Amino acid sequence: MQTNRNPSLTPWVANTEAPRHEPRRYQRLATVVVQRPRCPACDGVRLMKYRSIADQGDGSALAWVRCMADGCGCRFKLLME
Ligand SMILES: [Zn+2]
Repeated sequence: MQTNRNPSLTPWVANTEAPRHEPRRYQRLATVVVQRPRCPACDGVRLMKYRSIADQGDGSALAWVRCMADGCGCRFKLLME
């Protein structure tokens, strides 16, 4: 316990003169929204990729997708730019 000691001699108080961390610089970050792919027929989101090209050479990816929603089964291509 440090009850009767001179506060100026305690390490905690002595360190108050030491340089502090710089205040955190807050930066406004833009928000980019990535929507999940949806079936063009039923708007469903339960999709199964059955074939894909991870990178077509320009950074985009192409996938062949089948909708797994009950009673739909729509097949479509999914291009991710
Ligand atoms: Zn569907």
